Amino acid sequence: MTVPRTGIEHSSGSTHPATPALALLLDVDGPVASPVTRDVKPDIIADLVALAAAGIPVIFNTGRSDAFIREQVMEPMIAAGMPAGTVVHAICEKGAVWFSYTAAGAGPVHVDHELAVPKAYGDDIRRMVAEDYAAHMFFDETKRAMVSVEQHLDVASEDYLAEQKLFDADALELMGRHGLSAAILDHHDPQSDDTGDYRLDPTIISTDIESVRLGKDLGASRAVELLAAQGITPQAWRTVGDSRTDYAMADWLHHNDHEVQHLDVRPADGVPAKPYSILTAADLGLGEDVIHDDAGGAFLRTWRQEHAG
Ligand SMILES: [Mg+2]
Repeated sequence: MTVPRTGIEHSSGSTHPATPALALLLDVDGPVASPVTRDVKPDIIADLVALAAAGIPVIFNTGRSDAFIREQVMEPMIAAGMPAGTVVHAICEKGAVWFSYTAAGAGPVHVDHELAVPKAYGDDIRRMVAEDYAAHMFFDETKRAMVSVEQHLDVASEDYLAEQKLFDADALELMGRHGLSAAILDHHDPQSDDTGDYRLDPTIISTDIESVRLGKDLGASRAVELLAAQGITPQAWRTVGDSRTDYAMADWLHHNDHEVQHLDVRPADGVPAKPYSILTAADLGLGEDVIHDDAGGAFLRTWRQEHAG
């Protein structure tokens, strides 16, 4: 005699403790995914699964789309054997889009449409890329709120970065023609340029065009809300990033009285003075050449050893 499956096995009770020792809030490009290959090493996937399965909340806070997270992180984690009852949250497009996933796959994707770039502007950027910039970059069709234009994998970084400056100037001028106000973000002072409604945020592999209300701080606030909805209050947070703008996660958490340390996996831009402690690969005794996902992976392994047996 067979017992009929009810389909509710996974909805009863999660395995997450209410007050985990740590919660991880992770930028993806750089610390988790290689900025060179854009994918995630199997060791990092295994450590993320072990941490999440041990009840350490794993939350991604990325400018990437939900489609990118599903393909590069969610599907590999499920394939690596994520246990039922484990929930992972993904905040995408710098807080405009979010979803959660379990071993059964992705739940509904939420989009804050008020934070989207006007469609007519995005359509003009798509056309401009196709006509003038297609040799160096491509329009990311998976974004729901931001407009992102990314370096082709086979274009040398210095060639891309030179062409990106021209693209950024054209994209800014197009904002004016659409009657929209915008500025190009100065990475040395993330707060300084948010005078318009939109910003251009050039990274080492892409330019993101987005509402000034988006940011890693918005993602951090959503992360706290998503855990609170599960009844989870972490004792401390570790935020991880490779850009100056990623510090906004730790800034927001610290400002809202959460215990936080920030790991900078690409400290070459200079480590700013902050009222919370900042980790770099040097804290694990690693050399200055250990950056990006090599540094992120080393810390994930350490946290796994400390908190996930
Ligand atoms: Mg990054």
